[in-house]
Amino acid sequence: MPANDAPTPGSPDLTRELSPETLAVVAGRPPRAAGSELNTPVSLSATYVGGGSMGEGGLGYGRFGNPTWSALESALGALEGGSARTFASGMAAVAAALHLVPAEATVLVPHGAYNGTHAVLALLAEQGRVRVGHVDVTDVADVRERLAAVDGPVLLWLESPTNPLLEVADLAALAAAGHARGALVVVDNTFATPLLQRPLDLGADVVVHAVTKFLSGHSDVVLGALVTRSEELLAAVTRHRTLHGAIPGPMEAFLALRGLRTLPLRLERAQRSAAELALRLREHPAVARVRHPSLPEDPGHELARAQMRGFGALVSIEVAGGAAAADAVVDAVRLWVPATSLGGVESLIERRRRHAGEPRVVPEELLRLSVGVEDLEDLWADLSRALDAAARRA
Ligand SMILES: *Cc1c(COP(=O)(O)O)cnc(C)c1O
Repeated sequence: MPANDAPTPGSPDLTRELSPETLAVVAGRPPRAAGSELNTPVSLSATYVGGGSMGEGGLGYGRFGNPTWSALESALGALEGGSARTFASGMAAVAAALHLVPAEATVLVPHGAYNGTHAVLALLAEQGRVRVGHVDVTDVADVRERLAAVDGPVLLWLESPTNPLLEVADLAALAAAGHARGALVVVDNTFATPLLQRPLDLGADVVVHAVTKFLSGHSDVVLGALVTRSEELLAAVTRHRTLHGAIPGPMEAFLALRGLRTLPLRLERAQRSAAELALRLREHPAVARVRHPSLPEDPGHELARAQMRGFGALVSIEVAGGAAAADAVVDAVRLWVPATSLGGVESLIERRRRHAGEPRVVPEELLRLSVGVEDLEDLWADLSRALDAAARRA
């Protein structure tokens, strides 16, 4: 077969046969042709030539579409098993998803959802745009009851593992419960990434991502995405993006796709280190509780084993001695970076309740660790030394 007729990596025929690890590398590239660019370049154009006798042709205007966004979108779509639209931030994607339900719909959201999602829902509720109810996503029966108790349209918002309690939700059972009630089911898949779980395969209607986190992976981009298999929903979110204008920057889209290429490698290393750190942290006298689905005693362990291809790179610990002791650990680390966010190559540590908006269900002394790709022994030496100092202080 001549090279030009070979199936293009990333084209639907080939993407069906390839593993996600390979898709992360090959999806979203320009068509294969002699002399063509291997990577989709950064396309910086606010408008496109057209009109008059030329007709409209391509994209029209920079807010409507951009080839660099499209490259990232086709890669994310291939990984999640749907069609993707990228946004200026994860929150812009969250907002687009929340706009899919009519005014006065009820949004059921996990107690421990991302705090930005709680904040935007509180604002929309205050404006009378939606009603909000909170659910325990580890309890399918509870969610079913709450679904039955609300009137009118419903959006069921799911996260798994949850932030920062790392509870595991049975996405297939919850999506089925939601659909039985006619709810739109949205999963924020930021923590797991499509490499560890594909919510659309489990029945979700929409997946949202903070591409800012693992997908980009280098803490240098703020970007969001939404993925769906429904043409109707895709058209609605595309219209939302075009009209509300929360479009990604072409440079950000390029960087995100560049980062996505190494997601499988980064995640493999980071989650292996996370599981090993969880085991070691469990034995440390300054640690009262370790939360990571890899631990056999973790309440989400069995479900995560069945639902996920790995346990993820976030670990939460509760420091014996309370918030002050937890702050002392954050003050004492030198390699781990005290910072919010997650999913980058560098390991971050944060006491979540320092944020005023953090849900009350999160213990004051909880530290969320985003494990990066540094050497495991270096990470452990730094963290265990900081914990030793906290233990001596207590
Ligand atoms: C960070 C994050 C968001 C928001 O993404 P931004 O890019 O910061 O707007 C949404 N959901 C989860 C789970 C996140 O971690």
